[in-house]
Amino acid sequence: MKLRQVPLQCVSLVASIGMAVAAPSVEQLQKVAEAAHAKFKDLDEGKNADYIPALAEVPSELFGIAIVTNNGDVIKVGDTDAVYSIQSCSKVFTMCLVMNESGANSVLTKINVEPTGEAFNSVRAIEEGDGRADNPFVNAGAIATVSMIKAKDAEERWQKIIDTYEAFAGSKLTVLPDIYKSEAETNFRNRGIAHILYNSGNLFCDPLEATEVYTKQCSVGVNTEQLAVMGGTLANGGVNPVTKKRCLPEEMVPQVLAVMTMNGFYDGSGQWAWKAGLPAKTGVGGGIVAVVPGEMAIVGFSPPLDEYGNSIRAQKAIEYISQELGVSIFED
Ligand code: GLN
Repeated sequence: MKLRQVPLQCVSLVASIGMAVAAPSVEQLQKVAEAAHAKFKDLDEGKNADYIPALAEVPSELFGIAIVTNNGDVIKVGDTDAVYSIQSCSKVFTMCLVMNESGANSVLTKINVEPTGEAFNSVRAIEEGDGRADNPFVNAGAIATVSMIKAKDAEERWQKIIDTYEAFAGSKLTVLPDIYKSEAETNFRNRGIAHILYNSGNLFCDPLEATEVYTKQCSVGVNTEQLAVMGGTLANGGVNPVTKKRCLPEEMVPQVLAVMTMNGFYDGSGQWAWKAGLPAKTGVGGGIVAVVPGEMAIVGFSPPLDEYGNSIRAQKAIEYISQELGVSIFED
């Protein structure tokens, strides 16, 4: 029986056996975020993505943490004003756009939601499966997601994406031109992936249009607070906790969080679930957005990445905060 279905007279019993735990205060969150920042700021592991040349130029020492609660409180530590490319964190929000437009099932049937156990830009994973892109968070699935947007041309497709991201962020966002140029000049592998999908009927617009718009969405600039408001909208049942605007129907949020849990760290997703226990999504720009359902979003940003393409300082910081707060979704 779901808690929502518990008869009213039982609610106080449920509370008295300890299911209702007080949310941490803003001061507690500030302290734990500061401790995480202090603990990992000198950690010198991993390296910036360099297969997109402009990402190699971003200062590696940048490190920011932001938490946005469902009350709209914002906690910030470190380089939270630095603007960086959203990269694959964007894939979550384009999926939300398509779910909004065509229903959640459209993603399940046309793309699927299964982990690949392969790198985010794997071609083998598409070939070994049934031709579908496997899940919306590998590049194949994200490009397929872009192709599912109902649009007559690239411009309309792009406009719907940026409108969606701005609603989730509650602020204006723009493309970082240097990142976009650098990625557009070098995205041959993604163009190849799009053509493979198109060839088997699993990409739903012109493959070069889908790749171009996908590349643009990855180049959107965010700061750590903006990304935390985007995640906070998912933590808050689809309603932006700052603007109070609904961005996604509440019943779709668990499905979004399920895809984040299974695929958010690519072939590092199992280890992440083990350590942090939170639905999350990473980007090769160094951002990670994690969701504590019903409570808050926790975002970390730092460019150096591990072998899967996930920011090392950001994942360590979020793991630490999750463990300190005891907010893994697998804990009762
Ligand atoms: N734009 C990047 C790419 O297509 C995104 C990859 C990522 O963030 N993991 O390779």
